[in-house]
Amino acid sequence: MTGDPRWAPPPSECLSSDERRHQQFVRLTELLGAVDGTNRFYTEKFLSAGVNLSEIRTLEDLARLPLTTKQELASDQAATPPWGTAHTEPLTRYTRYHQTSSTTGPPLRWLDTPESWRWVADCWRSVFHAARIGIGDTILFPFGFGPFLGFWSAFDAATQLGARVVPAGGMSSETRLKLLDAVAPEVVCCTPTYALRLLEVARAMGLDLPISTVRTIVVAGEPGGSIDATRWQIEQGWGARVIDHHGLTEVGPVSFECWEHPGALHLNETQFICELLDPGSDRPAAEGEPGELVVTNLGRIASPVIRYRTRDIVRLRSTPCTCGRTLRQIEGGVLSRADDMVCVRGVNVYPVAIEALVRQVTQVTEFRSTVNATSPLHELSIEVEVAPTTGEPETVAARVGQVVQEALGLTVPVCAVDAGTLPRFELKSRRFVVKDSADD
Ligand SMILES: [Zn+2]
Repeated sequence: MTGDPRWAPPPSECLSSDERRHQQFVRLTELLGAVDGTNRFYTEKFLSAGVNLSEIRTLEDLARLPLTTKQELASDQAATPPWGTAHTEPLTRYTRYHQTSSTTGPPLRWLDTPESWRWVADCWRSVFHAARIGIGDTILFPFGFGPFLGFWSAFDAATQLGARVVPAGGMSSETRLKLLDAVAPEVVCCTPTYALRLLEVARAMGLDLPISTVRTIVVAGEPGGSIDATRWQIEQGWGARVIDHHGLTEVGPVSFECWEHPGALHLNETQFICELLDPGSDRPAAEGEPGELVVTNLGRIASPVIRYRTRDIVRLRSTPCTCGRTLRQIEGGVLSRADDMVCVRGVNVYPVAIEALVRQVTQVTEFRSTVNATSPLHELSIEVEVAPTTGEPETVAARVGQVVQEALGLTVPVCAVDAGTLPRFELKSRRFVVKDSADD
């Protein structure tokens, strides 16, 4: 448990399993009562699955409800453009628009009412509290405020809890670092990729980030915050603690890291019912085995997801955490997206695994892995940029090849490219490219 009472976890995050399940069931009943007959998407979905909601009498009965996929929601929006029919209230009540940052197909359009948006921000307050961020802290958001939900909700939540927020959209990395130097924030909120990018630019500018005021970097949007090697590079480079978090636009902020247990993410089970399913059979995954996270959000009643397949593959841990929270944890963060896996010469390869390996070679500043899906065996190759004066680029590239060979058993060509050749990212990185036509 934390010694400082300010950062004690709220009682709602420390319930016994029975208390939590009771609370979840009460709120599930409220949610189902609210959507039944008003939310056309779910009303029709339950009807066509032959489910009578009066049969949902315990939390276990949730499994009687059909699973929801992103594809279904996308098809609904395509059939009833632009918003689809998954809304519990009249459209005039919706005041916020965001969209998913999907790499395949059109983005999902997601609307919130003032109440459902407040719930999203409340979930973010849990993230900040667990990260020991609150009144008196200044938070810099070096992020272009587009339609991606994550940092908007973090920004609103931070103002609600009394922190001072500094938006830093529409600026170059150099200008953002000058702003950081001027306003002296304690916290920076960005993607792990962008934390590394700022580090690289700061070094080129001769700025020493470890002597800055920044003590915490809250990362989101990518899995890097829970990849040990990536996290280590950010923490060493900034001289600050990384706090990871994970969420989806259509779901909300579903997990967060506590100060006491780095590298694991508490599921916010006060606001979500989380199931773990075996992706092959759709049955509950065995204890300790990786499975797909399936989520029902309990407070976003105006635009809910019910038994939603996140495609995130995670491993759960239910042993007590030293912070005192009884919320289960995702061990090691999101292991992969179910959609992202590619088979390279018979070996299943996830982008997260490649990043974890390449980042072990700390001289690498940026990289890109490419899968050539036009070749029958799906060949993988990696390009790396090497930090100036840290070693011969060819030697560093060979080291990356060796690390990948040892871990995956794959001989992968790795070539060093000139500094600044590879794309840099502010939001979701695209370091894993699958070429599926000859002219890509
Ligand atoms: Zn904890």
